[in-house]
Amino acid sequence: MLNLECQVDILINNQEVLAQNYAEIHDPGKLTDVVGRVAVGTAEDVDKAVQAAHNAFLDWRKTNSKERIEKITAAVKVVQDSMGDLVPLLVREHGGMLWEAQTDFGIGMATLEYYAGIGENFVKTEFIEDDSSWVSIEKKAKGVIGAIVPWNMPVCLTMMKVGPALVTGNTMVIKPSPTAPLAISILLKRIAAILPDGVINVVHGDAGVGVALTRHPLVKKIAFTGGTETGAQVNSNAASFFKAVTLELGGNDPAIILDDVNPADIIPKLLKGVYTRSGQICFAVKRIYVQEKMLDKFFNTMCDIVNEYKVGHGLAEGASFGPLNNNKQYNLVKAMIENTKNSGAVVRELGSKLNPEGWDNGYFLLPHVVKDEDHLSQIVSCEQFGPIIPIIPYKTVEQAIEYANETEYGLCSSVWSSDIQRALAIGQQIEAGSTFINNHSFESLSLGMPFGGVKNSGMGRELAGEPTLSAYIDYHTMRYLK
Ligand code: NAD
Repeated sequence: MLNLECQVDILINNQEVLAQNYAEIHDPGKLTDVVGRVAVGTAEDVDKAVQAAHNAFLDWRKTNSKERIEKITAAVKVVQDSMGDLVPLLVREHGGMLWEAQTDFGIGMATLEYYAGIGENFVKTEFIEDDSSWVSIEKKAKGVIGAIVPWNMPVCLTMMKVGPALVTGNTMVIKPSPTAPLAISILLKRIAAILPDGVINVVHGDAGVGVALTRHPLVKKIAFTGGTETGAQVNSNAASFFKAVTLELGGNDPAIILDDVNPADIIPKLLKGVYTRSGQICFAVKRIYVQEKMLDKFFNTMCDIVNEYKVGHGLAEGASFGPLNNNKQYNLVKAMIENTKNSGAVVRELGSKLNPEGWDNGYFLLPHVVKDEDHLSQIVSCEQFGPIIPIIPYKTVEQAIEYANETEYGLCSSVWSSDIQRALAIGQQIEAGSTFINNHSFESLSLGMPFGGVKNSGMGRELAGEPTLSAYIDYHTMRYLK
């Protein structure tokens, strides 16, 4: 059934620009439904958008911070007012649950509010004066910021760039993901409309448009969220033009379970970090390390709970989680499940199909729990980004820490224990941007707490105050001697 709802175009200077080609966006939970169409942009569109953003920058940078903060505060209201029509649209294009899409908007709004709150204090010029000299330290906007975002949480991941970029006086060209471009683009069009022309511009497309943006000489910084491989390309393209970069990349988060917990008490909370968004979250729990004496009890308890899950469309009542977002990810995770079954690990396929008739019309996968003795197997080492989780036994806490760190990734991590001091001491030894104690889900995030990775999980931090904002400005100092 064709159910075309919307079309999103390229947005330059607050004008919609028609493209030569459009791509259909299908509902990943009902593939026969077309949710909308998205413009396929070109390098030429990128150039026009960057020029528009650059021209807008020449005035926008002169506005005072109060004026910019008023606009960002007005944008919070735009996000809030847009939830009614755009939350269901987001669910239909990216495959999440209704509450997950609401969370995406909620974090997006809170992020804008946060930067509106701290921006003025950050941007004000500092003066240092003593008997011999006078110094001023000014924080100047960089210029055009290129923001490239993925499909899994498009609203909040975009607002994590819009907030700090605008409050510091920059303008933007934003490239949404080609597999969830609709809701975020409509939202950006509404936000752009309350800003001067050219402050926010949007160009659609995939790698070609991303490369054109990262290599454009007038783009002064790239704020990127996406996979590690793509991040490496973004980094090397941006480096040839000496652009600043913030890279929020993939993760393979470990959760270390100490032997002093009761599995039945912690597993429901732990699972919030495992199957939410069908496991397609950068900081989802992707490996669980359990003391070997507790392994079977832990595994069986977890299987019993996961077996109650129902997988279905994000708008269907009673679904625990939804389909994968796209065909590539669906095939990748399916192949990984087969490979894990053939590896000799114990693989349990659990849960049930909410709507068995519609199952083959979506990228649905049931939840899988794996008991894996091999701490270096594929399912343990990679970022699976799907509803499958390995549980690996360890003998000593030292070994658990070693296992947690034997990865190219270092985004988030967690330690679960009834003894907070013991958990904190272990957390300090984990190579990651964040370690959460007895939690590891959306509720672990806190505004002002720097979010980002070490190793191949990224460079720079979002959601923070000074560590984030300073990446959107250049310092300019002046000094005279008395
Ligand atoms: P992806 O890397 O395939 O795409 C991300 C964005 O980059 C998309 O807009 C895409 O069109 C664009 N792109 C692709 N090739 C490009 C190139 N050569 N140059 C510039 N841009 C290019 O990632 P995805 O599949 O959309 O998202 C999933 C990945 O994102 C996972 O690895 C996940 O862990 C990661 N992620 C990280 C965070 C974080 O905060 N660390 C948050 C969410 C998602």
